Amino acid sequence: MNTLAMPPDFESRVLRDEPMAKHTSWHVGGPADVFFKPLDVADLSMFLRSLAPSVPIMWIGLGSNLLVRDGGFRGAVIETHGVFAELERRGENEVWSGAGVACAKLAKQCIKWGLGPAEFFAGIPGTLGGALAMNAGAFGGETWSHVVAVATLDRAGMRHERLASDFTVGYRHVSGPVDEWFLGARLRFEPRPGVSNDDIRMLLARRKATQPIGEWSCGSVFTNPPDDHAARLIDSLGLKGFRIGGARVSEMHANFIVNDGTASAADIEQLIEHVRSAVERANGVKLSTEVRIVGEVRRG
Ligand SMILES: Cc1cc2nc3c(=O)[nH]c(=O)nc-3n(C[C@H](O)[C@H](O)[C@H](O)COP(=O)(O)OP(=O)(O)OC[C@H]3O[C@@H](n4cnc5c(N)ncnc54)[C@H](O)[C@@H]3O)c2cc1C
Repeated sequence: MNTLAMPPDFESRVLRDEPMAKHTSWHVGGPADVFFKPLDVADLSMFLRSLAPSVPIMWIGLGSNLLVRDGGFRGAVIETHGVFAELERRGENEVWSGAGVACAKLAKQCIKWGLGPAEFFAGIPGTLGGALAMNAGAFGGETWSHVVAVATLDRAGMRHERLASDFTVGYRHVSGPVDEWFLGARLRFEPRPGVSNDDIRMLLARRKATQPIGEWSCGSVFTNPPDDHAARLIDSLGLKGFRIGGARVSEMHANFIVNDGTASAADIEQLIEHVRSAVERANGVKLSTEVRIVGEVRRG
């Protein structure tokens, strides 16, 4: 039973107790009190203004880096995929992309425009918003290497234009103005003629040979520690194939945990902790999760 009050205008449009398992690539996660897909920025601004300041807010893209615990999320989840969907060329070398654009679409459109290197975005199965929040990267490319400026929305529904220099960016880490979320970004590329969708297909085929693509996962669970690889450390302990409930360390790539279809979020989180403490005991390295873990543990 949740108590998050909603003005009548929005009550008919929000989903109550929406299972987050439907919105994450691990296919696990308990209910969000309120789940809202806005029509546009103005609509979202109004929605945000209608929320009490104490209500936790979580924006999501495609849920490809998110572990929501089985007790769900007490607050409001805002889905951006397919909403902030503008994708336009701006001048010679710049592109504006809404936060809800799938990274794969951005990669393909840049190829059509003869701009790049943007092929790496095809390896990230999320939205640009998620890629901005994570500084997602693949095949040697990284999101924030291309960011000139971003548009954000704050809790009060106010839009801000921010420069890349307003953010501190590192490996899978981004911090900046608090309580602001990404609406989209101005990205800079170079002219890159002669690249085609075949190049993307080749990159993805290479990856498919080494990662359990197609199984339910969140990609790499842990960030790589300095000068090492999380997968190497985990593999060296013989943990490939180790399982808790329906969650299993992938036999193909030791930094992936896959859901065999029956896992709970608790299975996955326990497996994450098991792997983390095994690596720490054996190597003295404390792995950090790349995956964002949110929400409440299920009681009872
Ligand atoms: C098979 C597989 C392979 C993967 N390979 C890679 C890879 O090579 N490299 C890589 O970096 N990642 C990889 N990932 C992880 C994931 O795809 C990326 O982290 C991606 O950027 C997440 O995007 P998303 O839209 O799904 O974000 P979500 O999972 O929905 O959200 C992730 C985080 O971003 C926040 N967020 C989402 N949208 C916004 C927004 N608009 N404003 C502010 N915060 C926001 C969320 O609150 C959450 O904290 C992989 C995942 C899978 C399943």
